[in-house]
Amino acid sequence: MRFIPPAARWLLMGPRRQLALALALAALLPAGLKGQEARPASRDAGDFASKKLPPGKGFRVFLVADMEGMASAVDTHEVIAGVEGERYRSLTSSDYWDRFRSLLTKEVNAAIAGAREGGAGSFVVNEGHGGNLFANVLPWELDPDAILVRGWPKPIVMITGLDESFGTLMFTGAHANAGSPGVMAHNFAFDDFTVNGKKLNEVGINALIAGEMGVSVSLVSGDDVLVAETREMLGSGFIGVVVKKAIGRNAAITWSPARVRSLIEEAAKDAVRRERKGEFAPFLMEKPYQVAFTLRATYPPEYAEGVAGLEGFGLERKSDRSFVLTTTDAKLIGHLLDAVEEVVLK
Ligand SMILES: [Zn+2]
Repeated sequence: MRFIPPAARWLLMGPRRQLALALALAALLPAGLKGQEARPASRDAGDFASKKLPPGKGFRVFLVADMEGMASAVDTHEVIAGVEGERYRSLTSSDYWDRFRSLLTKEVNAAIAGAREGGAGSFVVNEGHGGNLFANVLPWELDPDAILVRGWPKPIVMITGLDESFGTLMFTGAHANAGSPGVMAHNFAFDDFTVNGKKLNEVGINALIAGEMGVSVSLVSGDDVLVAETREMLGSGFIGVVVKKAIGRNAAITWSPARVRSLIEEAAKDAVRRERKGEFAPFLMEKPYQVAFTLRATYPPEYAEGVAGLEGFGLERKSDRSFVLTTTDAKLIGHLLDAVEEVVLK
């Protein structure tokens, strides 16, 4: 995913969008927009108890669709809509809408087709990319068997709605960690994020939250850097699909998108078959989790002040941009990411 930080965005978005966002935030924060003291309430799972995904038949697949790690994608212009904030207005091109959203949807459909061939019975796709505010998959072209979770804000943004009923978790279009030499590499709002001293990328953080629910990761697709670092992070227990070889942040050796789709379809089929045989294990770490993170150096100081003001997470500030916390609940880490996102998006 990708964060869109301009503080002036609220003023620029116009009254209709302000109202829509205020309503969305009001839904997240039952006490209304009262500021920091309302945040702990937003983490109460009860708020969303009636918003569970409908039950699915058979073996359930949860798929997180990001964009930086899609076949062929090498540049921000290809994965940004231009509506995410002032800073992003010039960072789009017609290629994004005309081609790359369609490519994204086709990759997701390929994963679903393969999973179905492998014996899966139902599919949930969660928008994992911040471009167009988490609304990138073309709903009218998506496999009709899939349920799509889209838009922003949504709780534990990359795996909204995941629970113990799912048989497996898949990531397509994923990208390497902040500081790694992968295409468009980054990690939420952080330059560095560790749990128990181990660096986790976006896939790793979500795999830990899923692991606590007993859900394992069976497929990860993206560039060679992403697949290699995630294998080291999670162990070898998933099928990695290398869709391109990173030459740098904005260059890669690529294959035809059609060829990549057949690789993803074949991998998803194997992933479901092997998952059903119990060959993959949930990603677990020792508790309590010692979480440490450093906000992006490019952020203005007020973002760090905003994060320092977050309540209910037990955050301890170690330096200007660095924080630590201890928890036994991986979901709390997910809700922390949501809260940090709200800070850097306002
Ligand atoms: Zn993304």
